[in-house]
This record gives sequence, C-alpha cells and structure tokens, in this order.
Amino acid sequence: MAVAETVPLLMRIVSSSVAVSYRAAKIARDVLSKGDLGIVEKSGKNDVQTEADRSAQRCIVASLHKQFPKIAIYGEEELAPTTKIPDDFIELGFDEEVLKHECPKHLQNIPDEKIVIWVDPLDGTKEFTEGFLDHVTVLIGIAVNGVATAGIINQPFHDYEAFPRYGKSRCIWGILGLGAFGFERNENLDGRIITTTRSHSDYTITKTVQACEPSEVLRVGGAGHKVLLLIEKKAHAYVFASQGCKKWDTCAPEAILHAIGGKLSDIHGKPIPYHANVVHKNTGGVLATVENHDWYVDKIKTLGEETLAKFESVKPAPPTLEATLSQQKLNVTPADKVDGNNKQSQCDQVSQ
Ligand code: AMP
Ligand code: MG
Ligand code: MG
Repeated sequence: MAVAETVPLLMRIVSSSVAVSYRAAKIARDVLSKGDLGIVEKSGKNDVQTEADRSAQRCIVASLHKQFPKIAIYGEEELAPTTKIPDDFIELGFDEEVLKHECPKHLQNIPDEKIVIWVDPLDGTKEFTEGFLDHVTVLIGIAVNGVATAGIINQPFHDYEAFPRYGKSRCIWGILGLGAFGFERNENLDGRIITTTRSHSDYTITKTVQACEPSEVLRVGGAGHKVLLLIEKKAHAYVFASQGCKKWDTCAPEAILHAIGGKLSDIHGKPIPYHANVVHKNTGGVLATVENHDWYVDKIKTLGEETLAKFESVKPAPPTLEATLSQQKLNVTPADKVDGNNKQSQCDQVSQ
C-alpha cells in the first residue's frame, strides 16, 4: 500500500513502524521455532544477543531506512555491515489502522532532521533465552526534537502460556497528543505494585525499590514489558536505579506511557533526552509511573547520598566520534543509491 505524501511524515513513520514491528516479531518467532538461538555474550553473561536480535534489527533498520532514508536510526546491536539482508526482511507496508487517525496538530509538519528513531530489536533478550517469552518485546521509539513522541511495542509471544505455539504477536502503539492503542486497562489496582529488573539487580536497585514502600515487587524482564504492565494497570511503578537501560529501551515505552498520561523520567524526575548523538545509557536510571510520579521521586530522595553515591557519581560521556560520523553518513545517502548490502552499514550505530 502506498501512502500519499500529504499524510504527515510522523503518521507515515508510525504506520510503517507498526507493520515493520510485526515482521520483526515474526522473525523472532521463526528463530525460536528453528531452535538455534545463536547466543553471543556482549559485555557479559547477563548481556546477550541472539539471532533474533540480529535478524530483527536488520529487518527494522533496513525497512525503515528504505522508506525514510533521511531519518537517523539508532539500533542497539552492532552488526557486520557486509551481511546480506534477505529480501523478505524488508517490510514496506503501512498499518491502515494508524492511518485512520488524524495527526495531532503540533506534529503535522515535522521535517526529517528533527526525528530520531531508536530501535531495540528485541528487549528482554536474557529472558528470551530462558523461556520467559512474555517478557520479550520489539521496540521502535520515535523522538521529535529530542522528546519521545511516538512508540511501538510489539510483543511477539503475548500470553504464550494460554495459546499453543508461543502465543500471539500483538502491537501497542501511541502518539503524544493522540493516545495509545492495542491494549486493555485494568479498572482498579490495589496496593503499590512495583516492577523492576529480574536479571540485572544489585544493592542500589533493591534499596531504591524498597524506599518506594511496595506492597508487592514484580521482578520481570524487559523495559518494554515493564511499561506494558503500567499501561495495563498491572503495576503502579517501574523503578530501576541503574545505568543499564539505554535510549532504545525507553524511547518507545516512554512515548506510549506519556500518551496515556503516565510519566517516565530518570529516578530524580528529570526528563530523558533522545536527540541524535545523546549518550546511549540512561545514566540517571529509570522511574516510570501511572500516576503520583513526584511521590516516588521524593521517596527515592530519602535514600540519601550513601546509597546513591556510586550510581550518581558517573557523569554522562560526550557523544562518540563514531556516532557523530554515522549520523552524518545517514543523512547524506539518497534512497536510490542504497542497495541491500550496505543499508545496514549506514544505519548501524556504535553502542556504548
Ligand atoms: P531488565 O529490566 O533487566 O530486563 O533491563 C531492561 C533493559 O535494559 C534490557 O534491554 C537490558 O538488556 C538492559 N539492561 C539493564 N541493565 C543492564 C546491564 N547491567 N547490562 C546490560 N544491559 C542492561
Ligand atoms: Mg532492551
Ligand atoms: Mg535488545
């Protein structure tokens, strides 16, 4: 389906990203069906990459780059630029449901250079390798002027225990000023349920969660999955006092959460920037809530310097030279000069 140029760029990107997310989710399901996950350790045994991460990123980055060649795309994985991308990894379709909605007025004339796309091809990879399939999501976040503005969370194995053959792929998407779609919310949620990491915990993270006086702690994988728990009202807050999460983990979830009136910030309540060349790590950690955000910020403050010292002392690094150069390259290559082999090299970025 071709989409008229008169449709605002942001709506075209979101519509395309929804279609691409389903394609990437299918790739992840196919890798699992084949049985060989091709696990590679990155910085250590809790930081892994699988064939699903690699192939899904190739699919997403190459597909979006073909449609939107002037837009900066940052993917999590560092991939060999020479790898041939199979033709069936390229998804050029648009999701018609997205296009039925009107673009919010303030987003109708956003030019390419104001947009950055953050891609986590598979969030919750550690849990993917351990069979916690509900924790896995595909994340495509769209930042405008450095603000998380639109997001796509695709859950390739939704409700996998209830359905044969790994559950169903579902897609949740949202745009600031428009709302979020593709999920149902619980009416009520009692107590104070806090969700946090399952596989990257440490003393500071645990202390910070405890400072928020939880009635229950849900230790589950994936930033995307944890924000899904918030938007479905299955948890009240996501607390992660660590620098482990990166921009591609939080951009899409933040946009969707903000679209329904929630909030995602660092643990001090400060907004997270998503400009091109921003440092990839979320150095101030992550605090996401459905409501009462400031209450959690105040509770975390009570911990004081002794607990937060190690966490807070690390200053954000300046953008890397590689990221700057990649950024420049991305914006100068016309679509018709890009072939299937070198698309990936222009879009892959150096992660930190
Ligand atoms: P988690 O809540 O542990 O599933 O983490 C959410 C996202 O942040 C996942 O993509 C993780 O890979 C990433 N992450 C969190 N902590 C770390 C860490 N210490 N090292 C590497 N990645 C991390
Ligand atoms: Mg991730
Ligand atoms: Mg990932």
